[in-house]
Amino acid sequence: MFSFYKQTIKDMTDHCIEENPNEACGVILGKTLLDQFKSIYTNQFSVDASSILFDSNLTDDLNLTQHDIKKIIEGFTKTVLEIDSQQIINLKTVYDSLKLVAENGGGDIASSIVRITNTAQSPYRYQMDPQEFLDADKKADQLNLSILGFYHSHTHTAAYPSDTDIRLAIESGWTDPYYILISLEDILAPEVKMYQINLDGTVIEEEYSSRDMPKKIC
Ligand SMILES: [Zn+2]
Repeated sequence: MFSFYKQTIKDMTDHCIEENPNEACGVILGKTLLDQFKSIYTNQFSVDASSILFDSNLTDDLNLTQHDIKKIIEGFTKTVLEIDSQQIINLKTVYDSLKLVAENGGGDIASSIVRITNTAQSPYRYQMDPQEFLDADKKADQLNLSILGFYHSHTHTAAYPSDTDIRLAIESGWTDPYYILISLEDILAPEVKMYQINLDGTVIEEEYSSRDMPKKIC
């Protein structure tokens, strides 16, 4: 399941409250399951292209042993999963292992935000500053993170994408990332909801969880 660090949710809502009554907007960065896979065994991979890595065979292409694969899967969740050796043997590709992790509660992790100026400066709509958006995209690359979503506030309406939000998502072509809507209708208890907006204009609400940030070991 998709998860946010609690601090990331707080950073978003703080930003929205600061910009109130105008809409606030920004980019959400984090690690996809594939990013997490890469960072667990980072020095072993020279394969950079995500599509290639997805289909890579764990044993033949990546030279991983059953023991390595088990370690990687445990690394995702930081808990010992009840996975027996037959399940490990059945995993052929990176995709298979990510699927298993997802079925056991793993998912994309949103870890930080980049605030973007709303050049519309309006309580009713937002327009991300194009240069700041490019800079955020560059920053994600430098940090080995992915753009997982976009957030913006609704200062007077519910946390649901407006017709304009849906149209802009489709026109921009950015339909892979999630759209996070933060309603300030009740400013003391902002509502944060997450949606997938599809190219055909359908909107699907997605569940997410929140978790504590891991403590730095060193
Ligand atoms: Zn909106």
